[in-house]
Amino acid sequence: MTSDPTSLDTFASQKLHTLEQRKLRRSPRECTALDAVRVMMDSRELINFCSNDYLGLAHHPQVKEAAARAALDNGAGAGASRLVTGGHARLFALEKRLAAFKGTQDCVIFGSGYMANMAITPALAGPDDIVFIDERAHACLFSGAQLSRATLDVLPHNDTDALADRLDRKRRAYRHALVLVDSVYSMDGDLAPLDVYARISARHDAWLLVDDAHGLGVLGSGRGAAETFTPKPDIPLQMGTLSKALGSYGGYLCASHEVCELMRSRARPLIYTTALPPAVIAAAEEALTLIETDPELCARPLQLARLFAAELGLDEPQSPIVPVILGDAETALAASDKLREDGYLVMAIRPPTVAEGTARLRVTFSAAHSEESVKSLAASLKHIIQD
Ligand SMILES: *Cc1c(COP(=O)(O)O)cnc(C)c1O
Repeated sequence: MTSDPTSLDTFASQKLHTLEQRKLRRSPRECTALDAVRVMMDSRELINFCSNDYLGLAHHPQVKEAAARAALDNGAGAGASRLVTGGHARLFALEKRLAAFKGTQDCVIFGSGYMANMAITPALAGPDDIVFIDERAHACLFSGAQLSRATLDVLPHNDTDALADRLDRKRRAYRHALVLVDSVYSMDGDLAPLDVYARISARHDAWLLVDDAHGLGVLGSGRGAAETFTPKPDIPLQMGTLSKALGSYGGYLCASHEVCELMRSRARPLIYTTALPPAVIAAAEEALTLIETDPELCARPLQLARLFAAELGLDEPQSPIVPVILGDAETALAASDKLREDGYLVMAIRPPTVAEGTARLRVTFSAAHSEESVKSLAASLKHIIQD
């Protein structure tokens, strides 16, 4: 059946056309995981160097087994929100374990990391408040801040002096202040100076929210980026995800009992959404057990990142995310294509995700990669860059 396009379809196709012209149209490709490091893409087997499954736990036999058993025992879906009947005992147990692991009084689990950040800031801040946010913070921290309707103040990247200065000048005009940063920045792999942020925030009675999506499981013996500082900084709002190193799905906030209770009563993306499926919870539980008992596994992604950087003469990485800056978008895309011909999947990241002139390959390392495959990736890339 053919018919005239509706105004809706005309709108969508015009929008897509504009995106296409600006080279911003995105089309997800089919990509099927074969194991922790191999994927099938366009009928070719590639070694995946862009997954966030840092420990290979999404494919760990014990984790898969736990998920399968939970689905068979407890069903495929939770059936309702946790405030109705979706509150499986295992979810409460996982929250207790995460709180203990992170050293906080309590923990709340959300549907995903994105949902956690859509929930936390709006539950804590409103139009009378101010939110300071690092310019490179994850998109969902920005979305949560916007949803809260607080005044938004964007900080230069990792510029703690700018934060101190603006708190000095602006803090007293607002009821409450929040400071939102990533612990590990997802496109650069660099760490935030969490100790300095914690000190400055406390001094001005500003509440520090740290997104540790890329820290949990891989830094500080698996306990997260904050553990790499001595003494460990006092961070009242520690958010993270179950979807990366834990190899499952979901998000969390580790905080005081009062803050977590407030989330349970007021956080809309927690109250009005279905609870996580039993298999997802069981997978995260099993992954947490593996992380707690195997600090060597947790240390391996960063070791491999350092090996790769040393082979290429790059600065020593602080996390398992290594950017290889190539300049313009075409160069980065061409390098990514050539690596695919050599059997490696590495994403090219272009503006506007990163600043103009800093298009790059973003390489991430997993405990499941072999040293040989890391070295051969480096050799292949060296060859491509020199050409
Ligand atoms: C991936 C990511 C999230 C979102 O987590 P999901 O569980 O995938 O929704 C949030 N913050 C940062 C920094 C991330 O990298």
